Amino acid sequence: MTQSLRQPSRVQITDLRKDYGTKVALSGVSLVVEPGTFTVLLGPSGSGKTTLLRCLAGIEQPTSGTITIADKVVAGPAGNVGPERRNLSMVFQDYALWPHLTVRRNIAFPLKSSTLSKVERASRVGDMLERVGIAHLADRYPNELSGGEQQRVALARALCAHVGLVLFDEPLSNLDADRRDQLRIEIATLTRDAGVTAVYITHDQSEAFALADRVGVLRNGELVQYTRPEKIYRHPKSAFVARFTGVAGEFPVTRVREVGEKRVEVQLPFAPHMFIEATKSENSPYDKDPHLFVRAAGVTLHAATSPEGASGVIRDVAYNGRGYEHVVEVGAKESLTKVYSADRFERGDCVKVLFDPVSCFVMNAQEEEV
Ligand code: ADP
Ligand code: MG
Repeated sequence: MTQSLRQPSRVQITDLRKDYGTKVALSGVSLVVEPGTFTVLLGPSGSGKTTLLRCLAGIEQPTSGTITIADKVVAGPAGNVGPERRNLSMVFQDYALWPHLTVRRNIAFPLKSSTLSKVERASRVGDMLERVGIAHLADRYPNELSGGEQQRVALARALCAHVGLVLFDEPLSNLDADRRDQLRIEIATLTRDAGVTAVYITHDQSEAFALADRVGVLRNGELVQYTRPEKIYRHPKSAFVARFTGVAGEFPVTRVREVGEKRVEVQLPFAPHMFIEATKSENSPYDKDPHLFVRAAGVTLHAATSPEGASGVIRDVAYNGRGYEHVVEVGAKESLTKVYSADRFERGDCVKVLFDPVSCFVMNAQEEEV
């Protein structure tokens, strides 16, 4: 084995399909992960995330399509390369540590077949124990550790192997909220320091945006958008992507008027006397049942005396450590959530709501079924 080899792998997936009997778990999935980048695949439960990761790992064989890792075709018409020959390691939701081995020996496990000397191996394991902050746990067994500690061991084991690609399957979902944030930061920094390529799957959009150089959104086994997080946030390709990556509100539009190549003005039922400027989606039409999708960052609150904006009433307010998040009722049934303001507005206050066109999109609410 070439354990000294530590180049991050380039990953290319082309037209991947996976059927389980009559169930299509993945279809038409194509994407490229550039070496040394961190890609997060985001999607609801059942969208095919784990299936995709298992196909990458070699635990599952695709029905058709090809997967190339570091210039080697590992799955394709010519057959499948076994998981142990793909130069990758994996971090699972349930840690998957060897219960009969100490922390130190768990981490050293992937080096068993390496050509490193005993001294080199011990030094690499010692270094990794330090870096992941678990040196004091080295001689314990997995059942003597908390969930967060076990996941640190799994991370150390994955990075110690000096592979070109690390795969993460929802590694934080079994941890408490405070542990989750801490370990997420460690995964981001240690993985990047190690210079490996990372593919990470989650159903949590805040986790995806915090970690990713590239975000891919999966829906019913299809990759519906794959790009930089900023682009997903600013230019969601469809109503599904917008909703799944977080909107403060979504409203049916009564009238749309074009005002430029990228902009439209819309009228909303609760503000019939004003036009709100919004961004046209590049790929999604607004010809059938157009809705306005508003990101939380695109809404500002102003005093009721402000001459501009739509009228609203504060229904709820919560302190979030930096300022206040409000729920604002803007129509008989319509409201906006997570509206941030550095100033606190009180429940029952009348306000004016202003919309920033770059964070408002108009798209059909119902998408063509793919
Ligand atoms: P996710 O990880 O996004 O929740 P999965 O990849 O686990 O999604 O599953 C995708 C779809 O494939 C789901 O509908 C799931 O029920 C189905 N599926 C996954 N594994 C199997 C299997 N071994 N046999 C049959 N159906 C499966
Ligand atoms: Mg899964």
